[in-house]
Amino acid sequence: MLDMVMIRKQWLEIGEVAVRKGLDFDVKVLLAVDEQRKVLLAETEGIRAQRNRGSALVEQLLRDGRPDDAEAQKKVNSTLVAGLKEKEAELRELESEYNRLMLLVPNLISPDSPEGASDLDNVEVMRYLEPPAFEFTPKNHIELGEAHDMIDLRRGVKIGGARQYVLKNDGALLHRAIIQLAMDIAQQQGFTLLDAPVMVREEALFASGFFPGNREGTFAIDGEDQWLAGTSEVPLISYYSGETIDLNEPKLLAAASPCYRREVGSAGRDVHGLYRVHGFSKVEQVVICRADLELAECWLQRILANGRMLVEKLELPYRIVAVCAGDMSQKNYKQYDIETWMPSRGNYGETHSASSILDFQARRAGIRYRDNEGKLQYAYTLNCTIVASPRMLIPLLENHQREDGSIYIPKALRPYLSGRESII
Ligand code: AMP
Repeated sequence: MLDMVMIRKQWLEIGEVAVRKGLDFDVKVLLAVDEQRKVLLAETEGIRAQRNRGSALVEQLLRDGRPDDAEAQKKVNSTLVAGLKEKEAELRELESEYNRLMLLVPNLISPDSPEGASDLDNVEVMRYLEPPAFEFTPKNHIELGEAHDMIDLRRGVKIGGARQYVLKNDGALLHRAIIQLAMDIAQQQGFTLLDAPVMVREEALFASGFFPGNREGTFAIDGEDQWLAGTSEVPLISYYSGETIDLNEPKLLAAASPCYRREVGSAGRDVHGLYRVHGFSKVEQVVICRADLELAECWLQRILANGRMLVEKLELPYRIVAVCAGDMSQKNYKQYDIETWMPSRGNYGETHSASSILDFQARRAGIRYRDNEGKLQYAYTLNCTIVASPRMLIPLLENHQREDGSIYIPKALRPYLSGRESII
């Protein structure tokens, strides 16, 4: 959500942002509703004041011993009350339309984000390591998973339906190991670790900016005001919702959680293997800091560095892309993705996203702090993946396979796998 005062001033830019992000939002409709709302508010206030004066007058007339005049004034007052009720009902309707539209306003786009319509227009900003040159025909992660009895897709689908899987033996251990490695990175970097609900109220999804836009993509729990969050960003942002907090030091929160996504917009895409599934685990960082652009940029780089650290500890080739306007969601101001090399795709595949959101989420969630003058301000928020698995198993298994069929275990993972150096 953005500030209405700012929307009135920067409406032209907001209209352009909606087009650049490919969103169906007409800022002029919001401005018109805002104008009508202001007029109606003034009218309602006017009638309310008249009614109050009328009531006082009735009292006065009765005190003055003029009951007939008081009766006549009561009639006038009744008409005013009826008119007021009508106006209030109109206002309520307009307010709800205004609130609906306010939730559709896109966040601004940082001036250094590239222009473009889709992920094809994202701009590579750096690379780490070269993709491996295999001197044998490499297997994909599904073949490797079956060969080592680590991944069972058939039974995953049997149990849970499409886009489900079973991780088994070393597959289950590797999955646990990279999640734990990511949690350890988060803790070493000063993050507070949370294990928070991912079965959340609708309110939490609005507060974190996922609703109304991503309602279709979210699993609802039948008969309850509860939904399965697609990321722990939802509970991490909601953790301080409605609170005024001390932000002399930023709040650094991280959680490992299951994530559930309907993937409605991805029908037919990435249907094989572990790339795009309905349920996965993710370690996510959320930073809540003072409303300062330089500070936010600094934290964006730091949380991105934590994601990079994980991939580097896994000894995997990756690149960073600056995400273009058209590939950013409604709430993002600036975004980088880490894409890790996936031999079976013959390309880099997205494994991490780092986003700066300014005060867009905090306005919805009501997260505020007092600035140096003691004035209440909305905080800035940012988030970034440290690891998401099983997607991360794809580059891990595929890049580290050897000709004899064994899989090299990176040094940083060995402490979590009883010191083992490979999967044989
Ligand atoms: P996001 O929270 O959408 O920024 O996603 C963060 C990371 O979660 C992505 O970069 C992927 O590594 C992973 N991810 C997102 N959606 C899926 C999915 N449907 N299946 C598997 N992994 C996913």
